Amino acid sequence: MRVILLGPPGAGKGTQAQLLSTRLGVVAISTGDIFRANVGAGTELGKVAKKYLDTGELVPDEVTMAMVRERLAADDVVAGYLLDGFPRTTMQAQGLDEHLASVGQPLDGVLEIQVPTEELVARLSGRGRRDDSPETVRRRLEVYTEQTAPLVDYYHAQGLLHAIPGVGAVEEVTERAIGALSAARSS
Ligand code: AMP
Repeated sequence: MRVILLGPPGAGKGTQAQLLSTRLGVVAISTGDIFRANVGAGTELGKVAKKYLDTGELVPDEVTMAMVRERLAADDVVAGYLLDGFPRTTMQAQGLDEHLASVGQPLDGVLEIQVPTEELVARLSGRGRRDDSPETVRRRLEVYTEQTAPLVDYYHAQGLLHAIPGVGAVEEVTERAIGALSAARSS
């Protein structure tokens, strides 16, 4: 099963990706985690990505696409995957569509996790990640609205979008996600 988790920073995509990965038996791929690992290890990619992560801006599409293409060529994606934090721009979504078409593997669905803005700000300011300073949080939310939110329409137009409320207990959100994805599978 190939699924995208879409939603603003703080929506719980990472948490749900981990839980759903276990439930569905597919790997969770977080582009944010891959960037952070590269920054931590001081790789060339990490050096390029660092300034974007620190300011809440998006890493340029070409850099991100090259990294994702490489990740999707690994053996562990054969059973499928959950994409957490990718795509984040229309160009990335188009790049992913091209990749999927070229390997003949369509997406099963796109899960949009919806959380009210006040709740996002409260969650993000309590998380303690280095890009969670108030200024960076504000910028990351703006970047989501400007560059990533248009993907809701993009995937809705493809008939792939399933929106679920991302509020309440973590397990409840997981159950909603599983429900939405079984609907996706049987449609
Ligand atoms: P995340 O952990 O998903 O919140 O991502 C943390 C940061 O990594 C973002 O604020 C961006 O700077 C960068 N990043 C993660 N995924 C992407 C992506 N798909 N495109 C561009 N930048 C990304």
